[in-house]
Amino acid sequence: MQSDLADNLKNIRRRIREAALRVGRNENEIKLVAVSKTHPPTVLRQAIDAGATVLGENKVQEAESKIAELGRGAAEWHLIGHLQSNKVRKVLPLVEAIHSVASLDLARDIQRISEDLDLFPKVYLEVNLAAESTKHGFMPAALREGGLEALLACDRLKIQGLMCIPPFDPDPEQTRPYFVELRQLRNALAKLVSAPLPCLSMGMSHDFEVAIEEGATIVRVGSAIFGNRSPRIDSN
Ligand SMILES: *Cc1c(COP(=O)(O)O)cnc(C)c1O
Repeated sequence: MQSDLADNLKNIRRRIREAALRVGRNENEIKLVAVSKTHPPTVLRQAIDAGATVLGENKVQEAESKIAELGRGAAEWHLIGHLQSNKVRKVLPLVEAIHSVASLDLARDIQRISEDLDLFPKVYLEVNLAAESTKHGFMPAALREGGLEALLACDRLKIQGLMCIPPFDPDPEQTRPYFVELRQLRNALAKLVSAPLPCLSMGMSHDFEVAIEEGATIVRVGSAIFGNRSPRIDSN
């Protein structure tokens, strides 16, 4: 198990490097989030020992208990899953970044509670590129038409950039246009508000190489590192 995990991590890092090189990028521009949701703390410990430095969890409760067991400083913890307003106070002190800021209301709750707790959380704005009713996130037009300005008024939030979870397709080439669209949206928004929005959180186990070719700066890889999750507990 331990050596599988170490091999998988090594493999993913090699593939990240190769994808970056294909498009003339430096692998150091790309951060790997090892998505450890559903796996027990013992497995997370193995991943940390094998060199994983950033761990991604999608549920506040689950993240809280794992962080209590392994320690806040054991890894850089990222929340990648849907965040409800009533969990903001709990999660803010626990994680380094939130990838799933999906509404202005949520951003304002994070702002208010960050003032209370004197924090400046790093966040990504989740974009619902395909307007899927089953997914959370900002519509691109809403961000363009005043939405981003309203978010920037939440001055406690260190907005890193954009995040997306495109519709699933086993063929990553089918997903490429969504990654292109997120990059182009980022470029347009950065120009609009004169803020850099340097980061793009995009790419998962089956499509992270294509995402890197299209500009991802942080990829969220779970099953390709940890193996398959039980589908019954895999909901986001
Ligand atoms: C589970 C999850 C991932 C990782 O998915 P894999 O296909 O296992 O790599 C990435 N991002 C989010 C938001 C997730 O919920």
